Amino acid sequence: MTTTEWAGTAAIVDGPGGYSGIEATPEWADEVRRLAREQNATLLAHNYQLPAIQDIADHVGDSLALSRIAAEAEESTIVFCGVHFMAETAKILSPDKTVLIPDERAGCSLADSINADQLREWKADHPDAVVVSYVNTTAEVKGLTDICCTSSNAVDVVASIDPDREVLFLPDQFLGAHVKRVTGRDNIHIWAGECHVHAGINGDELAAQARSHPDADLFVHPECGCATSALYLAGEGFVPDDKVKILSTGGMIDAARATGAKQVLVATEVGMLHQLRKAAPGIDFQPVNDRASCPYMKMITPAALLRCLRERKDEVHVDPQVAERARLSVQRMISIGNPGSGE
Ligand code: SF4
Repeated sequence: MTTTEWAGTAAIVDGPGGYSGIEATPEWADEVRRLAREQNATLLAHNYQLPAIQDIADHVGDSLALSRIAAEAEESTIVFCGVHFMAETAKILSPDKTVLIPDERAGCSLADSINADQLREWKADHPDAVVVSYVNTTAEVKGLTDICCTSSNAVDVVASIDPDREVLFLPDQFLGAHVKRVTGRDNIHIWAGECHVHAGINGDELAAQARSHPDADLFVHPECGCATSALYLAGEGFVPDDKVKILSTGGMIDAARATGAKQVLVATEVGMLHQLRKAAPGIDFQPVNDRASCPYMKMITPAALLRCLRERKDEVHVDPQVAERARLSVQRMISIGNPGSGE
C-alpha cells in the first residue's frame, strides 16, 4: 500500500445522502490514522456520530467540549466529525487552525431554523432586547448574539440578565419554554425553531415508555434538540418527577450505578448510546425512541472521513469579523457559568 493507492479509495461514491462505498475495516482505520499523522491532524467526533467514527476519533464529546479541545490541540489541523455549525464553532475558537469537516452538507435543522436576516429583523422589532442563542446556530447568527447558551446553562444565562430587559431566545422553542417556566420571566420572546429529530419524542410516547418499563429510570441527556423537548415534557408532568433525571454523560453513568437500575431509558439521539454502553456495559441503556437518529450526523461516513483526509476537504471558513463577534458571545456565556454540555 502506498500513500496514494489504497484500493479502498477508488470506491468512494458521492450521492445525495453523502459519501459511501467504504466499510470501516481495519485497513480503513490504518489509512485514516496514517493520513491524520501525515497531515498533523486531530480527529474530533461528536457523540451522535456513527460508532466507527467515534471509535477512530482522538476525542469524543459534545460540541462545546470539542471546540475547546480544538483550541488547545497542538495539531495544526482539526477534522471535526459533526454537523456544520459545530465545525464553525471550532473555527471561531481556533481561528489560526485549519478546520475540516468530512462533508459540509451535514447541516442541522435547528440551526437552519433562523438565519442572520431573520434575526436582524427580529432585533429591529425589539431594539433593546438581549439576544440569547443556543449553541445550535450558525456563525453569522452567533455574531448577532449577545450571549450564547447550552441546555445546561440556559437558565443561568437568562437569569443573569437585568429583569427589566426583554430577551430574545432562539432558536429552540422547547428549551425556550423550559427557561421561561423555570425563570418565571414574562418578557422573554421565543423563536419557534425546532430539531426535527425530536419529533418522535412526544409526551404520549415518553409517558408510555415510562409506564411499560416501570423498573427503569428515565434519563434525559440535555444535549440535543430531541432532549430539550423531553426536558419540556418532563416539566409539564407527562412523566413522574421522581423518575426523570437530567444528566450529562458522566452523570448518567454515575446515576445509573448509584440507583442500581438494570435498565435505563434515555431520551437522546441514538448515537449517544454507543458511549454510554461502552462506559457502563452492565447497564441496559435503551432509547426512548429508536428513530431519534440525526441523518445529518450520519453523513459523516467512513468514506467521507477518508476523502476529507486525502483531499483536505471540506474546509470551514468563517469571516474574521463575524468570528470575532461570535467569539465574544461564546466567551460571555463561559464567564457566566459552567456551560456543561452543549449539543
Ligand atoms: S439532532 Fe437535531 S439539533 Fe442535533 S444536529 Fe441533528 S438536526 Fe441538529
